[in-house]
Parts: sequence; structure tokens; C-alpha cells
Amino acid sequence: MKARVHGACPCRSSDAGTVGDGENRNLWRSGKLLWPLHMSRSSLFRLSMAALLLFIGAMAAASSGALAERTVIMFVAGMAAIFVASDQGGGRARARSTRQAQRPPMRISHHLDFQRFIDASTDPIIVVEAARVTNANDAALRLFGENVVGENVRTVVRHAGAAERLADEEASHEGRPLRLTGIGMRDQSWDMRIQRIASGQKLVQLTDRTSSQAAEKMRVDFVANASHELMTPLSSVKGFIETLREPDAGESAPVRERFLAIMAAETDRMQALVRDLMSLSRIEAEKHHPVETSVDISAIAKSVAGELAAGSNPRGGEIALEGVDQPVMVMGDVSQLRQLLYNILFNAMKYGRAGTPITLSLGLSRSGSMARLRVADQGEGIAPEHIPRLTERFYRVDSGRSRQLGGTGLGLSLVKHIVDRHRGHLEISSELGKGTAITVMLQIARDRLAMPVQDIT
Ligand code: ADP
Repeated sequence: MKARVHGACPCRSSDAGTVGDGENRNLWRSGKLLWPLHMSRSSLFRLSMAALLLFIGAMAAASSGALAERTVIMFVAGMAAIFVASDQGGGRARARSTRQAQRPPMRISHHLDFQRFIDASTDPIIVVEAARVTNANDAALRLFGENVVGENVRTVVRHAGAAERLADEEASHEGRPLRLTGIGMRDQSWDMRIQRIASGQKLVQLTDRTSSQAAEKMRVDFVANASHELMTPLSSVKGFIETLREPDAGESAPVRERFLAIMAAETDRMQALVRDLMSLSRIEAEKHHPVETSVDISAIAKSVAGELAAGSNPRGGEIALEGVDQPVMVMGDVSQLRQLLYNILFNAMKYGRAGTPITLSLGLSRSGSMARLRVADQGEGIAPEHIPRLTERFYRVDSGRSRQLGGTGLGLSLVKHIVDRHRGHLEISSELGKGTAITVMLQIARDRLAMPVQDIT
């Protein structure tokens, strides 16, 4: 059994119907136990009535003849006097109400349901009193250890600043929660909220902020990476402009041509990067809007492959289509699905071996509820350790090669975002030296309005 509550409940003695020590102390201090030295008016009245009863009894006994009769009269008068003097009825009721009024308030942490209440929380919760842990919920026992109840809070919360505040009776706990690291697993980060729940008792709740911290780090990294990606071609363009301004370089036509060609390639790179960044933010903004139109993915595949074949890159002509003769209706956003196909096919063109086919095949999943789109190349392949990270923004296996081929490092990240928005599934499989296959599963549309592909540019 886990020992999670520490200390005796102060409510017990009064619950059992006796006046506790504290109550006696209070009665003594209030002077109520100094009777008869400080007699109240009602007590004086009761004593007078008792004396009168005794007197009447004595008179009646004296006037009666038989001894037995006198004895009975005196006994009855005596009992009546004792009853009146002791104030049995009213006194008991008053004593009960005094006890109730002076019973110490029940502490919430001693309530029978308190433990059940804090156990329902997934956040670790402890109660600290006089620098000791008096209660801990299941999540706190998992975080701090099974035997924390009864321990000094400084040995439980191994964070010097936080432990000091918890142990300090006078500390104020208003304002923002404390941000802590170093508790639990490495790199875990917590928000600690401290709330006073009774005099001297503090309820301490820890909320895991690791994932929001990671998201914040990703955002900061993203801005830094995007700035770096833009800065590199920009510096190069600036350098060439300065060189061309010098008389020697500016006057030589071949040198000028070479420099201008490099500058054009660098500006193309910047343009592609800005375009991808804009797409990414657009797709992210839409990620919670479900896709409500149905489109023919077979027609989209033929259209994108046709555009690449007609482009300047000779690899476009090596795309082979399979299974695209019949319309395949999926729930989809046409422009996003076009971008998805373009990115996957363009990667296959960049990283596949020249002269080998790029296969784009379309089919259905075994259950028939999903369309399966697969692009396979026969290229250099990807080592297994890189595969889980390929959809991270700006993650590249070989940055130099990607840049040289016009890559932005955002292509697969965009693909992943588009698949997520379509509630689909993305799979990347690759074998070094043999090639890569990217598979996307999309939900088949049933009884939905089809959107003609030719309407979309
Ligand atoms: P990039 O613009 O650099 O191509 P992507 O996000 O599209 O960025 O892809 C990330 C990285 O994944 C690429 O830099 C490349 O290293 C690798 N990659 C993607 N597709 C392929 C492929 N078909 N074959 C080999 N490597 C690939």
C-alpha cells in the first residue's frame, strides 16, 4: 500500500463527541471554567430557585406529621433543587453548540475524497506543510518516487530555488508559475504553481512544458534557418555586384556574363525558398480546415507529370505513369495535391540516376478505402538513419548537393504537411545504391462533388 497522506486528522477528537485539548484551552482562556468564582446571572438565578425549592420542601416536611411522609417530601424537594441547579437541559445544548463553534475547520487535504481528487490529475501534485510533503498523487509518486510522503520537501524537489520557496512559510506565491528544469528526465521542463490551501499548507502542481518548449525551440530554429538560407545567396549576389562595379571585372564581357549567370541562379534560389516558405505558412494556416472537395488524383498526376516532361529538365521525360487510366476520386485540395506530386517527382528527378526511369503508379489500398500514390526512382538512395528526419524543415542528407540541384530543404516538409491536412499517410522507403520510393495514401471520396482538374491552374 502506498502511504500518501501524512499526519493525524485534527477533526477526529471532536467528531467522537469529546472536547479536544484545543477546545479546553479555549474554554479556560474565555473564563468559562472559572465557575463559581465568575458566576453568570443565569447560574445565580438557578441557585436561588434551588434554595427556594429546598426551603419550601423543608417547610412542607415540618408541617407534615409522619416521619416517612417528611422523608419523601424532603427527597423530592432535594432532587428538584439539584435538577434546577445543575441546568441539565439548556446547559448541554449550549455546551454542544460551543463545541461546534470552536471545532477547528476541517482541512481540505484531510477530506476523504481529496486523495481521489488529486489522483485524477495527470499533473504531479503534492501538498507541503511545514516543509514536509503530506500528500502526493500518483503522478507525483511516479515523478519523485514512491516514498516521498513524510519527506522534507528539499530532498523531494531537487531544485534548490523551488524547494526553498516551498519550505519558506512566509514566501508569497502570487504571479507567474516557476519554470523548472532538471526534475524528472533530462531536458524535461515544468511549470510549478503553488497555492495556499489552508494556513501553512501549500498545494503544488507541476505541468509538463517539455513539448511546448520544444515547439518554441523549433520555431526559433526555423527563423534562424530561414534567415541563414536567404542570407547565403544574398551575400553571394552582393559580392558579385561589388566585383562587377570594379573596372577590371566590369569591362570584361565573359567575366561579366559568368557573374551575371551566378547571380541569376542565386536569385532563383531565393525565389524558390520564399515560395516554399509562403506555401508552408499557407498550408499550416489551413491545417485545421478539413478538405471537403473530391478530386481526380489520376488526372492531377497526369497533369503534373506532363508539365515536368515539357519543362527544360531532361529527366522530366523519364517519368513513367502506371494505373492512371481510370479516374480515382479522393478527398483533396487540388493545388496542394499538385504541389505534393511536383515535390516528390522533382526530388526523384534530382536524386535519381540519369537515364533510369521514374515510376509514378496509382492504385488502391487492400481495403479499397485509400488511394495509393507511389513515386519510385533508381538513384543513390538514403541511409536509414536519415529517413525519420527527412520531413523536418531544412533537413538535408547532403546540403551542398541539395543546394547545387536547386533544393530548398523544404520539399518533403511541405509534402508531410499536405498529407497531414488530408488526413492521409506518408511512407518513405529507401535502399542505399538502389533507389527511393515515396508512398502517399489518400482517402477515397464517396458521394462527394468532384472538382474538374482543368479548372485549376
Ligand atoms: P531538398 O530541397 O533538399 O530536396 P527535400 O525536403 O525535398 O529537400 O528533401 C530532403 C532531403 O531528402 C534531400 O536534401 C535529400 O537529401 C533527400 N531526398 C529526398 N528525396 C530523395 C530521393 N528521391 N532520393 C534520394 N534522396 C532524397
